[in-house]
Amino acid sequence: MISKNIVVLGGGIGGIVAANQLRNELPSSINITLIERYEIHKFAASYLWLMVNLRKAEKITAPLSRLVHKDVKIIYEEIKQIDIAGKRIQTENNEISYDYLIVALGTELEKKYLNDNQYGIHNFYTYEGAQRLRDELAKIQSGEIIIAIESLPYKCPGAPYEAAMLISDYITKRGLKNKININLYTPEPHPLPVAGPELGKSVSDLLENKGIKFYPAHQLKEIKPEEKTITFNSDLTKTYNLLIVIPKHTPPAVIRNSGLTDESGWIPVDRNSLETQFENVYAIGDVNSISIPGRWQPDKPMKLPKAGVFAHSQALTVSEIINSKIFGKEIKSSFCGDGFCMLEAGEDLAGFAYGDFFAAPHPDVKIKKLGKAWHLGKVLFERWWLAPSGFRKSFYKILIQLGAKSLNIPIKL
Ligand SMILES: Cc1cc2nc3c(=O)[nH]c(=O)nc-3n(C[C@H](O)[C@H](O)[C@H](O)COP(=O)(O)OP(=O)(O)OC[C@H]3O[C@@H](n4cnc5c(N)ncnc54)[C@H](O)[C@@H]3O)c2cc1C
Repeated sequence: MISKNIVVLGGGIGGIVAANQLRNELPSSINITLIERYEIHKFAASYLWLMVNLRKAEKITAPLSRLVHKDVKIIYEEIKQIDIAGKRIQTENNEISYDYLIVALGTELEKKYLNDNQYGIHNFYTYEGAQRLRDELAKIQSGEIIIAIESLPYKCPGAPYEAAMLISDYITKRGLKNKININLYTPEPHPLPVAGPELGKSVSDLLENKGIKFYPAHQLKEIKPEEKTITFNSDLTKTYNLLIVIPKHTPPAVIRNSGLTDESGWIPVDRNSLETQFENVYAIGDVNSISIPGRWQPDKPMKLPKAGVFAHSQALTVSEIINSKIFGKEIKSSFCGDGFCMLEAGEDLAGFAYGDFFAAPHPDVKIKKLGKAWHLGKVLFERWWLAPSGFRKSFYKILIQLGAKSLNIPIKL
């Protein structure tokens, strides 16, 4: 009987899917260990609804142990060191050896603008931040709301745009549409630049229809909380009543000295197998860096966006590859770069963006017009994600494929 140790680092989207998929497919002689610092999982996509009081905070969390197969060993500890040469992981109290390693540690958020709520700087990128923002949005009566993206890359490239539209909807319901302006500033040339200018135009049209003022190509330079002003690189200074910042994303500290990263600080991987430069060591989800065809800044190649949908499908791919390797089977699984996103637009409507991010000469991404069905799809996904692991199994791939086929949407997973 073959015996191996597979260790998964990080119990977020990618880590949960990988651990469950491996456990569902592999015999019990293969040990699967998941290491995660938090016992409670928080579903980040729902922070947008939490922020506008469409979700209660406790409804978008679940104990990690409920989401993960009971025969996966979970170690709730901070990972301190990844020792690739020694094939060992050091946590606060344990040293764990591996034969196969999946790194799914996500991103960190720079603290600078994160917890400064006393000056009216808010965010919806953390669970606590989304709750504080909800309380502020309930109080504001008039003035300027500014949403500013601090730097690129940031996870879920649709989220700031969804946030602006959900806040607009919320303000309208409060009868304050004519008293509050919503302004969105980003260094990007248009929304979702990786998806191309046409799709970007569709999203900026949605913003315009809701009266949201959109300022592309504006790099945040400085915030003076005591004066309630924000300044951009062009030296344009604006005054705000409520400021929402999408904080700078950085690679997780623990990978810094692991030898896995390149000069960007993220982990480069083979785009089809998700394997790092080290054999049997994989990196999936937000922590990795995958170059894709096309350019939107003259000097910078494009990168695959950081999004749960990619973490999810990469986890499925890597699980299948490891399974094949252990049992000497032909490797058939490959991450193909297809992805999708339900873009919330308020009023229980969403758009549906989908496509092939590996297409050449640039990603081929389209958006379906707003509909209730896409919003409902997002709600159902949230319910499915937070259901106990026994209900979840691997229906995801089958459902996506069936849905895509019946709606004539050419996505594969
Ligand atoms: C507001 C918002 C809305 C979003 N909406 C969408 C959406 O609609 N669609 C979509 O596809 N994506 C969406 N995303 C993005 C999505 O949540 C992320 O891309 C996804 O979670 C990435 O998965 P991951 O497994 O790579 O990382 P994560 O899910 O972030 O998991 C990383 C895990 O590693 C753990 N970890 C890190 N370091 C350590 C350590 N040293 N020791 C122990 N544990 C550690 C963390 O605690 C965390 O649980 C959204 C994100 C936000 C914030």
